[in-house]
Amino acid sequence: MTGALNALPVRDDLRGRSPYGAPQAGRAGVGTVVQLNVNENPHAPSASFVADLARAVGEAAATLNRYPDREAVALRTDLAAYLSGRTGVPLASEQVWAANGSNEVLQQVCQAFGGPGRTALGFEPSYSMHPLIATGTGMTWVGVPREQDFSLPLATAVDAVREHRPAITFLTTPNNPTGTVTGLEVVEAVCEACAGVVVVDEAYAEFASTPSAVTLLERHPRLLVSRTMSKAFAMAGARLGYLAASGAVVDALRLVRLPYHLSALTQAAARTALAHTDELLGTVEAVKAERDRMVSTITSYGLQVVPTEANFLLFGPFDDPAATWQALLDRGVLVRDLSSSPGLAGWLRVNAGTTDETSLFLSALKDLT
Ligand SMILES: *Cc1c(COP(=O)(O)O)cnc(C)c1O
Repeated sequence: MTGALNALPVRDDLRGRSPYGAPQAGRAGVGTVVQLNVNENPHAPSASFVADLARAVGEAAATLNRYPDREAVALRTDLAAYLSGRTGVPLASEQVWAANGSNEVLQQVCQAFGGPGRTALGFEPSYSMHPLIATGTGMTWVGVPREQDFSLPLATAVDAVREHRPAITFLTTPNNPTGTVTGLEVVEAVCEACAGVVVVDEAYAEFASTPSAVTLLERHPRLLVSRTMSKAFAMAGARLGYLAASGAVVDALRLVRLPYHLSALTQAAARTALAHTDELLGTVEAVKAERDRMVSTITSYGLQVVPTEANFLLFGPFDDPAATWQALLDRGVLVRDLSSSPGLAGWLRVNAGTTDETSLFLSALKDLT
């Protein structure tokens, strides 16, 4: 496979790279297991929500001979109302953008504000897709290390952007894979210390008790806040991510998006989910309770857990994390082994499941300690 790939005239800067590759349960050699490795919400949609969604998608299907609303105005209006409700910040639909997952939003950001000859910067360990997406548009990636405890001191962040002058800076809070949060004072200081755009990736914001960077938008025109329906909203399969920023930033993204990028079915599904916000986010407290149970139980096994505000946590340290990962899989639990990434040696990541799934994980781990 690699030989055939190497024989193709692919871009020089893509040679030797690996695609994003979290193992998927039931696929690619992983049997049926409790899947706690990609930070999904473990609660499946209710029958009544599924019925409403099927009805909305059915209505949209009746006009599938037509292209969808290219600007997704109704959906962006609903997303703006949702974010305003959560943050108390008035937002117009012109300040909100949506795409097929926040990864697509981030790719559009890199296409519009990055590209060859420009630098993107992030504070690592962090979300592995940020460098993949940035370099995929020809950018140079600068990964600046966090502290040993995964915190990000304000001075570290400010010094880094002063030195590297990134066109795009990524700040992830709560951070994946560490679960740690970064205060808004750091976000503001970074915005003030550089001339590029600053992307705050808030994929896990609904699980956190910290305020959203949306509250800073009015003061910082180069600030972008990305969100997703893949995590707390329990809609990973629908592929809907979004961003709040100034209207001018959204206009820049409209220069690079593919026409009709959001299908009519996706728009209908996402609007239905937003109409069921209370129900879908109703699982968040249960997820947090399982996370907290994981924290206290894992700690009682004599292991360490990194303080987390997300729906997942880092636990360890292990002398041989790959062996522990395999031993957990042998006991029917799939967690994430990121221990070969810089700064993550010895750690494994697991997300909170349902009560039964979490219990299975905890008893499997107990066997190993
Ligand atoms: C999961 C995750 C996303 C979500 O990506 P989608 O494309 O919306 O599913 C974005 N950022 C971070 C940090 C994540 O962990």
